[in-house]
Amino acid sequence: MDFKVGVIAGDGIGPEVTAEAWKVLEKVGSTFGHNFIRTDILMGGCSIDKYGEPLTQEAIDAAKAQDAVLMGSIGGNTSTSPWYKLPPEKRPEAGLLGIRKALNLFANLRPAYLYPQLAQACPLREEVAKKGFDMLIMRELTGGLYFGARHTEEVDGLMTATDTLVYNENEIRRIAIRAFDVAMKRRKKVTSVDKANVLDSSRLWRKITEEVAKDYPEVTLEHMLVDNAAMQLVADPTQFDVILTENMFGDILSDEASMITGSIGMLSSASLNESSFGLYEPSGGSAPDIAGKGIANPIATILSAAMMLRYSFNLDKEADAVEKAVEKALVDGIRTGDIMPREGDLSGITKVGTSGMGDAIADRIG
Ligand code: NAD
Repeated sequence: MDFKVGVIAGDGIGPEVTAEAWKVLEKVGSTFGHNFIRTDILMGGCSIDKYGEPLTQEAIDAAKAQDAVLMGSIGGNTSTSPWYKLPPEKRPEAGLLGIRKALNLFANLRPAYLYPQLAQACPLREEVAKKGFDMLIMRELTGGLYFGARHTEEVDGLMTATDTLVYNENEIRRIAIRAFDVAMKRRKKVTSVDKANVLDSSRLWRKITEEVAKDYPEVTLEHMLVDNAAMQLVADPTQFDVILTENMFGDILSDEASMITGSIGMLSSASLNESSFGLYEPSGGSAPDIAGKGIANPIATILSAAMMLRYSFNLDKEADAVEKAVEKALVDGIRTGDIMPREGDLSGITKVGTSGMGDAIADRIG
């Protein structure tokens, strides 16, 4: 089959890591008989350099014309890059917010998986880490506290700030449906995280989530208060499959979950809208400190491409093949610098650069 893929290589390590993800996609194409048609799209600092703005209307239109978009990362050194002397709405990150809004990407998916081979990088206690974990956080991305009305005013002589947390039932339903759909492709468990003992928005969240659950009798739904979820993530992360939560809780919990995997270079993510379209990108940034050195870990971007295969193209077998190839490369001792063992026996470990890791993974497909 033919699939149209927009590639936003971006800045810093972005072009290096997307090149490896593309290499892997081409290997998937030749192995499984698909054709990935690439359109390059400028966004971020590179777009500022060329057009004076981080995201042009042409870039938005080009992205909308694709089946999915694969992104590296955007931005530069925030202290030294001239991009950060521009007003906030002209800086690279404004491009990212702009494209998420233009494409209505309301569902953010962040898997957190602990590879047994990398367990020593996990900051959790050894007996917790050795059990491993494999979860996915489904965070609502366009509603809640970050998008509600806010103001600061003087009330009775005191400066007083107000933020509002608003969700309507449609916003909750569409993200809950996404979570249950994803759970059907995984271990069929959804943990919905809220603060229903205090917040009205959480009580509505719980009610709508329960309604949606009725359409998915194979999926187990449980509710968990957010303070407990923060504790359970470090105490017993194996219990989680899909965590469904609103914007701010998801912001905090997804960073906590990524921290316990121990390596930013391994973490993929996806942002989806109501169709099968998605924007797929590594969770990390453009890493200006290592850009151009050929040492960045491309695995997060390669795993983001695997998510694209699974969630936008419905190619589960192909996504499995990529994820297994990553695992095989790790089992075979292939490591970029950021995931090298810090101590102990290095026999059986081969240190590679960005393209060496891409080659190792592509070679293990099929
Ligand atoms: P960062 O994630 O770029 O880097 C943090 C640390 O992790 C650095 O030491 C970096 O070398 C390392 N790192 C990140 N990805 C790596 C990889 N694939 N392999 C090996 N090491 C890796 O975060 P930062 O330094 O806070 O931000 C740098 C720039 O990236 C800023 O301009 C920021 O705004 C931007 N940013 C962009 C995105 C995005 O494009 N979605 C996300 C976060 C930050």
